[in-house]
Amino acid sequence: MRNLIRIILIFALISTGCVLQDQQADSKADFSSRKIWVITTTGMIADAVRNVGGERVEVRALMGPGVDPHLYKASEGDVIRMADADIIFYNGLHLEGKMSEVFEQMQRRVKTAAISSGIARDSLLSPPAFQGNYDPHIWFDVGLWMEGVKNISKNLVALDTASAEIYHRNTAAYLQILSELDAYVHQQAMRVLVEKRVLITAHDAFNYFGRAYGFEVRGLQGISTAAEAGTADIQNLAQYIVERKIPAVFVESSVPPRYIEALQAAVQARGFKVKIGGSLYSDAMGSAGTPEGSYPGMVRYNIDTIVNALIQ
Ligand SMILES: [Zn+2]
Repeated sequence: MRNLIRIILIFALISTGCVLQDQQADSKADFSSRKIWVITTTGMIADAVRNVGGERVEVRALMGPGVDPHLYKASEGDVIRMADADIIFYNGLHLEGKMSEVFEQMQRRVKTAAISSGIARDSLLSPPAFQGNYDPHIWFDVGLWMEGVKNISKNLVALDTASAEIYHRNTAAYLQILSELDAYVHQQAMRVLVEKRVLITAHDAFNYFGRAYGFEVRGLQGISTAAEAGTADIQNLAQYIVERKIPAVFVESSVPPRYIEALQAAVQARGFKVKIGGSLYSDAMGSAGTPEGSYPGMVRYNIDTIVNALIQ
């Protein structure tokens, strides 16, 4: 509630200033003389918008490397930047769990688009543990993510129709890259023996990955990192690892490693050794300028890390 009041106050301040007035004056704008100013929540969405928008867009992601979108709260600066944007793209399906109030406020003033909204509901997962909510981690299935990319394209074309041809051309090129990426992940996954295709991570982010590429997936924390892992969860999963003789578990770049380390210790106490197979980029990409700082690079890094740790 306090957060909501803070956001409303910021809006009141902006409205009396020039930022929104400029925005409103520009709302029927002709973008022929300037770029589209885009704000995204995650880096994965920013990567898609940069590829689809090319030179037509100026993109800023609010959440950088290592940032957990489940827990992220918009800063005052973020709210001002969002109010000044031409369009805001976010994941939706409650990934940005602490930002729903901000989005509600924004929707009255700025065009906002949840990229998951273009994805057919029957292709979304809704595991029982998620209590009726859809699993938001759609970028782990490259084929599904391609539907989100098409949604970005559709929204940019609607906003800046004069450049439609550019968006269509860029979208086709990016989808080609993603389609090759999808084939690569499938190919790499096949290198792991079927009975070894078990992915154990810090939180339950990899369900779409598991469905698309044939892995059984177990996360220590739930769908959101906001839920804590209990001692019983750790003990049960440790027992499972020992029974299945699973060689490796994985930490995540945007989640503190303490639960996975506790799991490793619980396995060791049972007389079995499980290694930490590496750190996966789950809900955030790597640093800008590194291969993992792009969506395709992040996906490649993850599958290579998983395969190397599980093949023996
Ligand atoms: Zn997550």
